[in-house]
Amino acid sequence: MRLSQFHLHTSKQTPSDAEIASHQLMMRSGMIRKLAAGIYTWTPLGLRILRKVETVVRQEMENAGALELLMPAVQPAELWQETERWEQFGGQLLKMRDRMQREFCFGPTHEEVITDMARNELRSYKQLPLNFFQIQTKFRDEIRPRFGVMRAREFLMKDAYSFHVDQDCLGRTYQVMYDAYARIFTRLGLRFRAVDADTGAIGGNASHEFHVLADSGEDAIAVSNQSEYAANVEKAEALAVGEARPAGAELSKIDTPSQRTIEQISEFLKVPAANCVKTMLVRSEKGLVALCVRGDHEINEVKAANLEQLPGEIILASEAEIAQSGIGCSAGFIGPVGLPDSIPLIVDRSAAVLADFVCGANSDGAHYVGANWQRDAVATDIVDLRKVVAGDPSPDGQGKLELVRGIEVGHVFQLGQKYAKAMGATVLDHQGKARTIHMGCYGVGISRIVAAAIEQNHDSKGICWPGPMAPFQVVICPIHKKADSPVVAYVESLYRQLQSRGVEVALDDRGLRPGVMFADMELIGIPHRIVVSERGLESDQIEYRERRADENELWPQSEVLERVIANTLITG
Ligand code: ATP
Ligand code: MG
Repeated sequence: MRLSQFHLHTSKQTPSDAEIASHQLMMRSGMIRKLAAGIYTWTPLGLRILRKVETVVRQEMENAGALELLMPAVQPAELWQETERWEQFGGQLLKMRDRMQREFCFGPTHEEVITDMARNELRSYKQLPLNFFQIQTKFRDEIRPRFGVMRAREFLMKDAYSFHVDQDCLGRTYQVMYDAYARIFTRLGLRFRAVDADTGAIGGNASHEFHVLADSGEDAIAVSNQSEYAANVEKAEALAVGEARPAGAELSKIDTPSQRTIEQISEFLKVPAANCVKTMLVRSEKGLVALCVRGDHEINEVKAANLEQLPGEIILASEAEIAQSGIGCSAGFIGPVGLPDSIPLIVDRSAAVLADFVCGANSDGAHYVGANWQRDAVATDIVDLRKVVAGDPSPDGQGKLELVRGIEVGHVFQLGQKYAKAMGATVLDHQGKARTIHMGCYGVGISRIVAAAIEQNHDSKGICWPGPMAPFQVVICPIHKKADSPVVAYVESLYRQLQSRGVEVALDDRGLRPGVMFADMELIGIPHRIVVSERGLESDQIEYRERRADENELWPQSEVLERVIANTLITG
């Protein structure tokens, strides 16, 4: 590509709403243009990169045996009413009406449309398994679109849906897709982890998210320092930590007139927070429930919401409910000792192994010291209730957990029969009996990957594309004053030779000053740069620089072609 004809449009200014590096660099390099909140144009430069990602994803889907199709972006309300998601999906669903006042939505995902196709076209188990994918624009009316294309409202997704006669077959395809995802992110040159994820409201049997690791990521992930174990912090299992010790001390009540929080108590009594028990009262269908964790730990709300005693969400008891419960104190002084029998006491594993601990005394202005389980308070249940912290043992028994941040770029999910049941998608099995189909779904955020890659690969000068995503592999920068300079003839010839050898090469023939030209090429992140000047030609020294290097290499003209090809093969 001759850059004089490519409409590059870089800028030195960083838009004020661009908080993170990828958003800033995508705007400054001119890859995207904002049209409205969370809605962007991909310029010719940006689109080249987006298409690179799309190509790798498409190839790996095809290798995994998935068939490409393209479903409509606009979907009729009736399908979403069948699965009850017309209401459940909430504000993210962009609804609209046609001229006949019929209701539609702009698809945020396509389970309903594909299940409708499946129920109409699948008759026999012999047609299964099947796996369909598409690469298509989605719309989700995100409450807070931000970070550019990272959390956009309109974005490009690869979504795949597989159909099976039983769970075993679904499990096998799930593994094939999991492996294909690992290949996609490896091929793109990204540092990533597959993490065990909560299956949440949909239920289902298994779910993994693929995260690109980056400090700016919105998700917290727990990873083992010695094994492949990785889980979303929402899901990561917390083992009991600390030694079980025999009860020694007497239980005694002491005045703590204004110490309500764990920090205040631990400071006042000179006892580490790890030796205090923190108690939270929450609402259930049958009254209040007490949840206890160690003072230095936090309740994991996803784990708590999944407890069978709770209604699927955490609602803190109000002061009025606490007053009515007969406990006789306000929220800051609640503890497990002497709670009314009607309140179940659910204790985290690590809190349950404490001895001689400090806790609220269920009377205003007082705490107990020297409290012990069994003797002073009996847990109704001991469960995994807390958030993991750095240094916790890895649940697989290998190493310790570290907490890192990630950007979710892919998600594989065993849906089971949820959609097929709601929409009546069945096939006849080998005995001629109708069986509800089992489904899996598999998403990749194509446009989000572009931003995530930049978060992982940039420096103070701009983007440093991994070879497979770069818009061009190499740029030739000529430095000359006159149009008939030998530099022009040389770069034209090198440009044509590289093109004919299949290298994606850009020729910066815009006639800019060297400093401006170099700054632009570093900003847009082209992995390899060749600089040709009259002096360089005379002394047979052509300057080469790899994007991340600090120094030029000097190459003789005779070696330039082959060395560029060799280097682009390494990184491309
Ligand atoms: P998130 O938790 O980030 O909101 P999600 O769990 O809602 O994502 P999925 O429904 O699993 O997302 O969609 C599949 C993939 O689509 C995600 O892994 C992500 O890469 C991408 N994606 C989802 N929402 C957006 C968005 N608003 N902008 C860009 N990409 C998105
Ligand atoms: Mg997800």
